[in-house]
Amino acid sequence: MKEIILLKEGEIALKGLNKRNFEEAFMRNLRHRLKSIGHFDFHCDQSMVYCEPGDDVDMDEAVEMTSKVFGAAAMCRARVSEKDFECIAADALEYCGKQLAQAHSFKVAAKRADKTFPMTSPDICIELGGRILEKYPHLTVDVKHPELTVNVEVRETNAYIHTGNLPAAGGIPVGTSGRGLLLLSGGIDSPVAAYMMAKRGIDISCIHYVSPPYTSDRARLKVERLCEKLTPYLGDTTFYCVPFTKIQEALRDHVPSELFTIIMRRCMLKIAQKIAEQNNLQALITGESVGQVASQTMGAIVCTDNAVDMPVFRPVIGMDKTEIIEISRRIDTFDISIEPYEDCCTVFTPKHPKTRPNLKGVLEAEKLYDFETLIEEATAATEVKVIKL
Ligand code: ATP
Ligand code: MG
Repeated sequence: MKEIILLKEGEIALKGLNKRNFEEAFMRNLRHRLKSIGHFDFHCDQSMVYCEPGDDVDMDEAVEMTSKVFGAAAMCRARVSEKDFECIAADALEYCGKQLAQAHSFKVAAKRADKTFPMTSPDICIELGGRILEKYPHLTVDVKHPELTVNVEVRETNAYIHTGNLPAAGGIPVGTSGRGLLLLSGGIDSPVAAYMMAKRGIDISCIHYVSPPYTSDRARLKVERLCEKLTPYLGDTTFYCVPFTKIQEALRDHVPSELFTIIMRRCMLKIAQKIAEQNNLQALITGESVGQVASQTMGAIVCTDNAVDMPVFRPVIGMDKTEIIEISRRIDTFDISIEPYEDCCTVFTPKHPKTRPNLKGVLEAEKLYDFETLIEEATAATEVKVIKL
């Protein structure tokens, strides 16, 4: 029996002249993500991507992985049949047999993209419905709220039979919207930010700041595991790890404690901008949500933004923690995020950070020490590694 995964384009279908580029990026990403599961052939026709497995492919695994690749609005797992009604009927009875035996009501829904097929869609519904009732007389037909829908799609080269769409990843293919650098902490919010921006087609690299010995190796490994968890969505991702201890010690020793956090965050962004520029990444991304903590008040965000002249995307800016947690559970990063390891942001944090910093005061305080040199040094000492799917 030949099964296939059909992916129905969402936004891609609405693209104009460059639609083909989006489709190619989508198929390239699918090929990459499914590589370890087995061999697949891909082609695209009339806003549908066909993902045909070779022999011995674990289809459950393939469907699970495919559901995380951005670009499709819906997907289904379908039986491939010949474009002949007798074959379609026999295959439908076999492929949907178990579900038909268990259901109480059903309907057949037919679509005919190939108008040369000798039967119309209503003909297919009536004929196939009759065959199903013959074999499963306990069933009733319910066209409004059937328990089971047997879909038949007659397309260019084959007919496809399936029992409904599965949730697809949505979004547009990673790599079609430029490249960004995500500030990835070990927390809940930034992995969700990565997911959200990748969904909009951004190819994401990650940067993480560590402060040994105040932060442990295990804390860093936790963040690498978060990165790994994200690879089905992001693809392979480059991970930059910045040694941040000297900067934090200098901040502790030389700037007023209530400005520690804000200037630290400015240093983080400045390093991120340098790494981004060196690697042709066009925007920075953070997991900040306005009002969540002292460093994320409007005033604090204004002061941090001013440190760089590159766009900073904050996809979770308007979300509640509960909404962010919901996504982090769905993408399965939550359990790692809540492991209790220290983050450099919590090293030396003052008891009373300024929630309404004024930019002039912040810029004055920054002049109290040669932070620019430390920023250069930390950038130069940054370690790079590729985290693969
Ligand atoms: P998260 O849950 O993402 O850790 P948070 O609510 O704990 O966020 P903060 O610790 O203030 O908030 O961090 C805000 C943002 O700053 C994070 O979402 C992340 O983008 C970035 N960030 C914080 N700590 C680090 C770090 N050690 N390395 C890289 N980025 C960081
Ligand atoms: Mg954090």
